[in-house]
Amino acid sequence: MDMRIALVPGDGIGPDIVREAVRTLDKVASVYGHSISYKEIDAGGISIDKYKVPLTEDALESAKASDAVLLGAVGGPKWDHVPGNLRPEKALLGLRSGLGLFCNLRPAVIYPELSSASPLKPEVISGGVDLLVVRELTGGIYFGEKGRSEDGKSAYDVMRYSADEIKRIARKAFEAARIRHNHVTVVDKANVLETSRLWRETVSEIAGEYSDVALDFMYVDNASMQLVRDPRHFDVLLTENMFGDILSDEASMITGSIGMLASASLRDDSFGMYEPIHGSAPDIAGQNIANPIATILSAAMMLRYSFSLEKEAKAIEDAVASALSDGVRTKDIASSNAEYVGTEECGSEIIRRIK
Ligand code: NAD
Repeated sequence: MDMRIALVPGDGIGPDIVREAVRTLDKVASVYGHSISYKEIDAGGISIDKYKVPLTEDALESAKASDAVLLGAVGGPKWDHVPGNLRPEKALLGLRSGLGLFCNLRPAVIYPELSSASPLKPEVISGGVDLLVVRELTGGIYFGEKGRSEDGKSAYDVMRYSADEIKRIARKAFEAARIRHNHVTVVDKANVLETSRLWRETVSEIAGEYSDVALDFMYVDNASMQLVRDPRHFDVLLTENMFGDILSDEASMITGSIGMLASASLRDDSFGMYEPIHGSAPDIAGQNIANPIATILSAAMMLRYSFSLEKEAKAIEDAVASALSDGVRTKDIASSNAEYVGTEECGSEIIRRIK
């Protein structure tokens, strides 16, 4: 397969971690006989320095012309003083909305070797946790009508969803469940919210097309408890924008390792943008100590969701698991006083385990 990938290294540790993900992709391409061409794009602080804006039209056009985007991270103290609409983080919003990405996938995985980093008790996570939060990104209360009364003493935000918006993301969740453990849990507040009742109706309708996938429903207050009480209940957790914003952060925190968490933002076709959930970590930039695993796992998600290369994606994930079980650790996931490897060496340890 020929893949055209736009690279957005960004700021801080971004270039270092993206470099390791690219080396990993190149190894996969050579083992499995694919070809990859890369186009590097400036976004974030580096773009502000060069062009005075966080994302140029040209950069967005280059991203659109690719099959998928791999992003490091943007931002840092150097740009803290720039006005709000020119901040580096605006590049992310510009890419997400400019590329029409409506579906956010955030896996939360607890590897048995790193279970001591989880704030949860061993008996709650024994055997490992592996769940995927599927969050609607472009609708709901964040984008509804909002305003204040004339005296400023009352305010409102409207939550609105159409059946079509729900259908397209429900399909993404069912498709994801099919290549995972065939279980979707819809999280909502259907006892109170009309939008939630529409979600239930619409997802139940779509479920008819996926009879091999089990479907259940959970109220959001209960889901927030179950994530810490019994996270193994979940395979794919499907939810609307605001609930997803909150629950995806909660799910991340139960893993205890921010340097390990990948994400994907998708639209209806196979195009997607892939990035670690962490930021540009300016405190450790340029020291060769950043953990590249979140970005390497984001590249694995790219192979799975944009190119349908399941075997290749799994090869990367297995290589990461094998490196971890052989004791490879970057500083952030090493226990105190234990030895650790640098960013590049961590990448090399993973790459040499790709079969
Ligand atoms: P951060 O995620 O960059 O860092 C939080 C802590 O986690 C830091 O101590 C950092 O050293 C550590 N950390 C993060 N990633 C790591 C990795 N791969 N390996 C080892 N340690 C890692 O969050 P922050 O400090 O709040 O933000 C720093 C900058 O990043 C800010 O400018 C912020 O706006 C930006 N940011 C960008 C994104 C993005 O690009 N998607 C997301 C969040 C924050």
